[in-house]
Amino acid sequence: MIIITQEIPIKKNEYYEVEIHGIGHEGEGVGRINNFTIFVPYTIPGDSVKVKVIKVKKSFAYGKLIEIIKPSDNRVTPICSIFEKCGGCQLQHVNYIEQLRIKKQKVIDALERIGKINDVLVHDTIGMKHTCRYRNKAQFPVGVDELSNRINIGFYAQRSHRIIDMKTCHIQHNINDVFIPHIKKWMERYNITAYNEKTGKGLIRHVFTRIGFSTGEVMVVIVANGKKIPNKQELIDILKSIDATDFTLESIIQNINTKRTNVILGSENKVLWGRDYITDSIGKIEYKISPMSFYQVNPVQTEVLYNIALEYAGLEGNETVFDLYCGIGTISLFLAQKAKRVVGVEIILQAIEDAKKNAIMNNIDNVEFHIGAAEEVIPQLYKQGNHADVVVVDPPRKGCEEKLLNTIAQMQVDKIVYVSCNPSTLARDLRILEDKGYKAMEVQPVDMFPHTVHVETCSLIIKKD
Ligand code: SAH
Repeated sequence: MIIITQEIPIKKNEYYEVEIHGIGHEGEGVGRINNFTIFVPYTIPGDSVKVKVIKVKKSFAYGKLIEIIKPSDNRVTPICSIFEKCGGCQLQHVNYIEQLRIKKQKVIDALERIGKINDVLVHDTIGMKHTCRYRNKAQFPVGVDELSNRINIGFYAQRSHRIIDMKTCHIQHNINDVFIPHIKKWMERYNITAYNEKTGKGLIRHVFTRIGFSTGEVMVVIVANGKKIPNKQELIDILKSIDATDFTLESIIQNINTKRTNVILGSENKVLWGRDYITDSIGKIEYKISPMSFYQVNPVQTEVLYNIALEYAGLEGNETVFDLYCGIGTISLFLAQKAKRVVGVEIILQAIEDAKKNAIMNNIDNVEFHIGAAEEVIPQLYKQGNHADVVVVDPPRKGCEEKLLNTIAQMQVDKIVYVSCNPSTLARDLRILEDKGYKAMEVQPVDMFPHTVHVETCSLIIKKD
């Protein structure tokens, strides 16, 4: 047997000139040196750059940007002064039209490479008019700066767990700029300790906020490493005294998380003041949102996305629709306006409870909700004789279980609407469905997360013949 070992054509610590032609998964530029792929953070397609090779793997390398020899025409100055430290946004140095093109290409590439699908219509990404301040949910880690010994509330420095203090975040609602300094002041004034990940000691771990864009209602969740928060009345008084005309504080919650884990929220919530939910509306439907329930983070684009889902579902009024991974029933209630019956399935109890309340609050009585994993509940419902004309799925990043896709195919559902936040798992699942007699017809990318590499899509899949 002859083993041919191919020599890797680039060397660590050497300098090279590279033309960047694409964008990788984490927003880093992609180029080639002697036909060998190299990823270079903070570069964009169209840049000519000088790089230092810092890591060489079997089939690709990582480079550090040393100098931009010729910038791409699509380069812009990032809005945020800490863009490169934070890592929350990856594309702030790319103009918005190009961001939208990159996202469409990301979808096409995943469909072709992972799904081996190249005959589906991928539309242009639908972008936003105002690309800042679009998020309704924020999670700020709290810690003590090792050098200054002061409390920091902000974000994790890229690829680390060091917390950097933050004055503002341009993609978050600006109420955070008001609330966060007040919470910090309260901690400083009353010597409330910040959690230390290394020792597991200290009380306050995260501050988590949610705002209903259409109602102006705000929820503040203090994630604590313990059941007791000292001086909590003072915290409530400080937060209640914040004066602003365009929002109202409706809910202050303590979330208890005593586990040594990266997961932000623990399972127990205590209302410190006000209600245990806030409300928001999308289109004509009003929603109650609890701290633990999933709710899309960009309400403006959510309406765009749900309208596409509704259009793809093509309902005439006689259909039974299954809405799987339904969260608080957001899409279910949208669909119920046009369908005969909607069945929502969701794994988180609090979300299902919200979904049921939301149906009542909106006087919608042609929906029912089931708790459990979609891949377990749907086979059971099918066995009991239930059938869907249209299935909508909106899974988390890991996509659908194959068992669920099998049941959908067995049910001979005519139409599937697949809402996805991860083109890779979408492509994998579309391949499975295509192998079972379905055809992906069109994919609409929607920009729910401007300035980041993330892209949401809505796909229409139909049963052949
Ligand atoms: N369609 C909703 C929620 C989408 S997010 C909306 O647009 O708001 C995905 C949801 O899937 C989350 O609420 C999550 O709790 C739920 N989930 C995760 N795994 C699941 C599973 N195996 N079965 C059912 N729901 C699941």
